[in-house]
Amino acid sequence: EAANDCPPDVEALGRSTWTLLHTIAANYPKTPSYTEQSDLKTFMGVFSRLYPCWVCAEDFQRYVEKDQIRVDSRNEFGMWLCKAHNAVNTKLGKPVFDCSKWEERWRTGWKDGRCD
Ligand code: FAD
Repeated sequence: EAANDCPPDVEALGRSTWTLLHTIAANYPKTPSYTEQSDLKTFMGVFSRLYPCWVCAEDFQRYVEKDQIRVDSRNEFGMWLCKAHNAVNTKLGKPVFDCSKWEERWRTGWKDGRCD
């Protein structure tokens, strides 16, 4: 439909971006190599400067200064990203997501089979 062909607003961009970031976490190795860890750090650093919602990017950079990115393993990065997303949720008055469920949401699918 025509509406889907419009340029993304901050909300649509955000939803798509979180999908990409959490899916990167879901596919990140449990025991990443030095190169994989370094690539993820570089990607997130560049991402935080290029994200085309400038207030979002500024706040996110400030967040990363306080709570430094963890890239040591899939779970470390997935939990770090979940906390970072929750910080944005809180700022926007959205409900906090239960981070113990991040892999069900983004990697394995819900235990009740909702994503089958
Ligand atoms: P989203 O927040 O986009 O979440 C998508 C889905 O992810 C949810 O439906 C849920 O299933 C799941 N989810 C929710 N929380 C978590 C979590 N903690 N961990 C794992 N999964 C989760 N918007 C602004 O207006 N101002 C900002 O300053 C701002 N900063 C942003 C910074 C970044 C880095 C990004 C990527 C986005 C930012 N956004 C900002 C956009 C905002 O976060 C939302 O994406 C947008 O408001 C749409 O929200 P939504 O309710 O559809 O769900």
